[in-house]
Amino acid sequence: MHSTTPQPVCVLGSTGSIGVSTLDVLARHPQKYSVFALTARDRVEELAQQCRRFSPRYAVVLDEDKATQLRQALQADNLTTEVLWGIDALCRVAADDEVAVVMAAIVGAAGLKPTLAAVRAGKKVLLANKESLVMAGPLFMAALAESGAQLLPIDSEHNAIFQCLPYPCENLDRAGVERILLTGSGGPFRTTDVAALDSVTPEQACKHPNWSMGRKISVDSATMMNKGLEFIEACYLFHATPVDIQVVVHPQSIVHSMVQYRDGSLLAQMGNPDMRTPIAHALAFPERIDSGVAALDLIAQGRLDFEAPDESRFPCLRLAREAMEAGGSAPTTLNAANEVAVDAFLSGTLPFTGIARLIEKVMKTTEVVELTGLDVVELADQNARERAAEVLEELYGARTGAERPQTRSM
Ligand code: NAD
Ligand code: MG
Repeated sequence: MHSTTPQPVCVLGSTGSIGVSTLDVLARHPQKYSVFALTARDRVEELAQQCRRFSPRYAVVLDEDKATQLRQALQADNLTTEVLWGIDALCRVAADDEVAVVMAAIVGAAGLKPTLAAVRAGKKVLLANKESLVMAGPLFMAALAESGAQLLPIDSEHNAIFQCLPYPCENLDRAGVERILLTGSGGPFRTTDVAALDSVTPEQACKHPNWSMGRKISVDSATMMNKGLEFIEACYLFHATPVDIQVVVHPQSIVHSMVQYRDGSLLAQMGNPDMRTPIAHALAFPERIDSGVAALDLIAQGRLDFEAPDESRFPCLRLAREAMEAGGSAPTTLNAANEVAVDAFLSGTLPFTGIARLIEKVMKTTEVVELTGLDVVELADQNARERAAEVLEELYGARTGAERPQTRSM
């Protein structure tokens, strides 16, 4: 069925890698979708360009200075776009009555509040911001059940799993699912000599063999913490337990994940590694729309390889599984410690192998509590950041901004 009026879409994190891919897909379907709001932390000129192209009702930045810059940049264009700033404005545009679809593509813990606001407002939420689910999984899923919002996974693996499951799927066992096979490329250091990992640079870590992504997720892919976060994400999204999910390394990133059934069937979703496929899928679900992605040519591709992950090379995978098994605030702590570690690695204060070391030390010395409310999540997140900053100083003599809560916003 085709609706005659375009559905208003709010793109949280529109200047990022996922945000730009989302706008690319939206631009292909002006009859189906309109852009209601665009948001970014900074990169004002890029956001201004997007506003000129898509004429959103609102554009939201993180602070007042950036808002002033954006207003000035848009002044000459006679646009009706209203410029807002701050976390409350992000939540407001995500929950606005007029919005039908929210793309949650802010990176990191900063995405939690606006994404949750969209969920609570009962929107169709396209979830790219895996960190928000990892840090607040139980609350997030409870809010979803309460509001009746529809959550569609954008992460290519989870989107693939979603496509390989019946819809809706509240119970894997009743659906005949034996296990979920979560694939990952192994990143740029899959075959690098382990001894050399100590000295790899941020540039090397951000050079993913198959995907072009933001810097944080690129580093996560290099440590395979990305797969670890996705493991936790899959547990929440698909009501799975850690034993239901097996990580499989698949260097070509053509099979985006698989579901194995009781009768011996193994369903896979395949495609070229381009995020516009899961974005278009989730946006139009249950319809199928053009995404701009070329059809996969399996004959040209030639071969697909699969192997077991090497946890001695990628300790982050084990740390994430242990966090999910521990439950409560353990994934919140894992996520926060990882964000501090990745920032420190990107700014040159922590070696690559220090990322896992720092997270493990924070995990070992942080109490696990039950996540009874958003305040508990925020406290666990803050405590883990402070603890990570201490550990960073103990182990590497480096200081971060994490111990100063006013420097970051959630
Ligand atoms: P990115 O760094 O390219 O973009 C992040 C966006 O969030 C930008 O628009 C930025 O302005 C905004 N932002 C950053 N910090 C903010 C803050 N404190 N407050 C408000 N806005 C802020 O990141 P990305 O690669 O597009 O990833 C976005 C999310 O999608 C991440 O959670 C990532 O894990 C997930 N994801 C990305 C990919 C990918 O291919 N890039 C694939 C799967 C999942
Ligand atoms: Mg992914």
